[in-house]
Amino acid sequence: MKPRYFEYHQPTSIDDVLELLSEYGDEAKILAGGQSLIPMLNFRIASPAHLIDINGVAGLDQLNLTPEGVQIGATARQRTVENAPEIALSYPLVRRALVQVAHPQIRNRGTFCGSVAHADASAELPSVVLALGAQIIARSSRGERTIPAKDFFEFHLVTALSADELVVEIQLPPLAAGSNGTYVEIARRAGDFALAGVAAQAVIDEGGTVQSLRMACSGVGPVPQLLEEAAQLAIGSDLSDELLLEIDNIVRTTIDPPDDVHASANYRRVVTGTVVRRALKQLRDESGSNHD
Ligand SMILES: Cc1cc2nc3c(=O)[nH]c(=O)nc-3n(C[C@H](O)[C@H](O)[C@H](O)COP(=O)(O)OP(=O)(O)OC[C@H]3O[C@@H](n4cnc5c(N)ncnc54)[C@H](O)[C@@H]3O)c2cc1C
Repeated sequence: MKPRYFEYHQPTSIDDVLELLSEYGDEAKILAGGQSLIPMLNFRIASPAHLIDINGVAGLDQLNLTPEGVQIGATARQRTVENAPEIALSYPLVRRALVQVAHPQIRNRGTFCGSVAHADASAELPSVVLALGAQIIARSSRGERTIPAKDFFEFHLVTALSADELVVEIQLPPLAAGSNGTYVEIARRAGDFALAGVAAQAVIDEGGTVQSLRMACSGVGPVPQLLEEAAQLAIGSDLSDELLLEIDNIVRTTIDPPDDVHASANYRRVVTGTVVRRALKQLRDESGSNHD
């Protein structure tokens, strides 16, 4: 199929984008990497009257790593973030999640912010920003606001953004010394959306004790979900194999995933417990503590 008729806008400044959003509001869609939006237009799942292409806007593609954290601009490609040595070194969770998003060709175009703004319940990056406690910076002609990741996701493909708001940047907070993270998922094929996935970010001290842990999972409901009860159980522990099994069990009983064409609710429960156990085991083993 082909998209319905739309008017294509190519603004070159943020102010022009905001003016277009303010004028066309509900009838408009931002075009970033197009890797989700273009298929949706072709299938006529989305039929905006106006398409606002932000790729010609100067100064939106920044990727800055500073002592205050990381700022990722609206047109920074997923592949740019994935390939940044500072990201691999300081935010391994981000890189480990990105390499599991689709395929390199898609990540060459797809943007980090676009994936978060799209808010697919099975996508990797929404869980990543939730686990990291990131902030989403949204701007409209009415001003700028900062939305914590925990308040951003409202439903599958629905966010706290208003129709006239543009995500200009996502800010990842600085991480404590010794913090490590990983993303573990189970998908039918490499590059597919996850049946279940988990983003985990932890500080494990030299003695092997978990000092802090945040985990968020994908594919278990309409929004990415924080696993607070399981994280509380892990904090203060040494993540023994017995405890990992207990945490796996807690996860299975605290989530309420949907039945859908891809997997039954029960299967997703089991798989989510498994990915959490694998993620924590990886973080434990990488911390150098010895459980053999
Ligand atoms: C074959 C295939 C496989 C894929 N597999 C995966 C996968 O395994 N995991 C995964 O997470 N994703 C997957 N994707 C999606 C891909 O990661 C997209 O790049 C991403 O979801 C959207 O980013 P984008 O920059 O392409 O956004 P676009 O497609 O341009 O936009 C997506 C939506 O977000 C809105 N939007 C984009 N940027 C902004 C902004 N700055 N402010 C406000 N709204 C904005 C758009 O208006 C639109 O509604 C896949 C895509 C394809 C084609």
